[in-house]
Amino acid sequence: MSKQVRVRFAPSPTGALHIGGVRTALFNYLFAKKHNGVFFLRIEDTDQNRFVPGAEEYIMESLEWLGISPDETMGKNEKFGPYRQSERKHLYKQYADQLIHSGWAYYAFDTSEDLDTLRKTTEAAGNTFIYNHTVRETLDNSLTNSPEKVAERIAAGEDFVIRFKTPVNETLHLTDIIRGDIKFESNLLDDKVLFKSDGMPTYHLANIVDDHLMETSHVIRGEEWLPSMPLHVLLYRAFGWEAPEFAHLPLILKPVGNGKLSKRDGEKLGFPVFPLQWKTEEGTSLGYKENGFFPEAVINFLAMLGWNDGTEQELFSLTELTEKFDLNRIHKAGAKFDPEKNKWFNHQYLVKKEDKALAELFLPIVESKGVSSNLDYVTKVVASVKERAHFVNELWDLSDYFFVAPTSYDEKAAKNWKEETPELMKQLIVVLNAIENFTSVNIETIVKDWMTQNEIGMGKVMQPFRLSLVGKMMGPHLFDIVEMIGKEETIKRIEKAIASL
Ligand code: GLU
Repeated sequence: MSKQVRVRFAPSPTGALHIGGVRTALFNYLFAKKHNGVFFLRIEDTDQNRFVPGAEEYIMESLEWLGISPDETMGKNEKFGPYRQSERKHLYKQYADQLIHSGWAYYAFDTSEDLDTLRKTTEAAGNTFIYNHTVRETLDNSLTNSPEKVAERIAAGEDFVIRFKTPVNETLHLTDIIRGDIKFESNLLDDKVLFKSDGMPTYHLANIVDDHLMETSHVIRGEEWLPSMPLHVLLYRAFGWEAPEFAHLPLILKPVGNGKLSKRDGEKLGFPVFPLQWKTEEGTSLGYKENGFFPEAVINFLAMLGWNDGTEQELFSLTELTEKFDLNRIHKAGAKFDPEKNKWFNHQYLVKKEDKALAELFLPIVESKGVSSNLDYVTKVVASVKERAHFVNELWDLSDYFFVAPTSYDEKAAKNWKEETPELMKQLIVVLNAIENFTSVNIETIVKDWMTQNEIGMGKVMQPFRLSLVGKMMGPHLFDIVEMIGKEETIKRIEKAIASL
C-alpha cells in the first residue's frame, strides 16, 4: 500500500452506539493498526433533527472501554480538525457552489408539498416517483428557470436545495474490497440533495468533502451504505478528486429468523446490544460492560462476526488481531449473531485471567453479601470454581458454600439421608476432630481409611457429607472444600445437618 492508510469511523450521534457500529469501528481500527496507519473519529452531526445529547460522549467512552480509541479526533491530534461536522459548516457551501459552476449540480425550488403531490399522482398511475433525469427538466429548478430568475429567487430568500445532476446512460463499474466488482446503472439513481438553504450540507456532500480533506484512504463501513457508493464515487469524479477504496461490511443478523440484529432482539432474548449502559426517558438499557463482559471478549467475538484468519482459531487478542486482520478475508454474507457464543468467549477470557485478578473483582461481591473475607482466600475459591463461570457475577452462586453454611438442602439429594446417616455423621465428626494436619490430601486418606476399616460404603458417607457442607450435590473435590472452610466450620455444618435433616 503506497499512500498512508487513514481510515475513519464516522457515526452520527443519534443514540447509543449499536454493536454493529462498534464492529465497524473495530475493523477500521484493526485495518489502520495493521498498516501503521491512522484511525480517526469524525462525528457526522449535520442532521440537527436527529442529534441526541450525550451520544457523542457515549461513542468516545465506548471506544475507550474497548481499548480502540481513535488516534485523531476532537481534542486529540487535530491534524485535520475540526472533527465534528457541525463545526465545519462554513466549509461545505463552497464545494456545493463548485458543483453548480461545473454543471454537476443544480438548484431546486420544488417545495415538499409539490413533491408530495407529484409522488402521489405518480404512484396512483402505478409508478414510483424519482427525482432524476427523467423528470428534472420538467420540475422547478435551475435547469428550467433562467439564471436571472434563479438568482432573483435566491436573493429573495426562497427555500432551495442543491441537487446532484446524475449522469445519464452510464454503467458504473465499481470495486469493493469485500464484494469485488459491482455494476450500477446511473439511470436508476436519483438526484440526491447535497445542500439545503438552511446552510447545512446533507450527509452525502459532507461525507465526501471531509473524507477528501481528511485524506481518508479507505472507507470501511456497514453494508447499508452500499447503495450510496455510486453517488459517492460520482461525487469524487465531479470534484476531480481521487476516490478512496471502499469496503462494505456484511450485516450482523438476528440470532433467529431473518434480518438485521436490532435492539429489540436483545431485549427479547436477554442479551445486550450496546457496549455501555444507555439511559433514556423510557428506561435504561444495560450494556456489555454492566452485563459482566470483559472488553477483550467483546472485541474478540465482534472480530469473528464476518471475519476469520483462515484457520480454526477463534481466540485472538487485540494485538494478534491487528497482525492478522485482512479485509480480503471478510465474508460477503451476513453474520448471524450468537449470544451463547458471546458468553463462551467471555468464559474463555475469564478462565485465562489470573486467579488473583479475578479475586480482586470478586471480593467486593463477596463483601456485598455481608461476608468478611480476604484476597488470599478468595483467590483459592476462584481457582476452584472459575472453570464453570461465564461471568464474575456468577462466581457467588458457584462458590457461596466457601463463605456461608447452606441454609437449605437440595430435596432430591436429601433423599440419600438415610436412617443410619446421623450415626455415621457423628462418627465422621470424631474422625475429623482427631486430624491434626488438616489438609485435603491428609483428610481424604484418613477418612477413606476409616471407611475401609469399618467396611462403610463410600456413597453412604460422601453424599451426606457433601450435602452437609454444600447443601447440594455440586462443587469441586469435597476434601478441598473441607480444607478451605476448616475443621471447626466443617464440624459445625455436619452438626447442623444432623439437627435439621
Ligand atoms: N454517518 C454515517 C453513519 O452514521 C457514516 C457512514 C459512512 O461511514 O460513510 O453511519
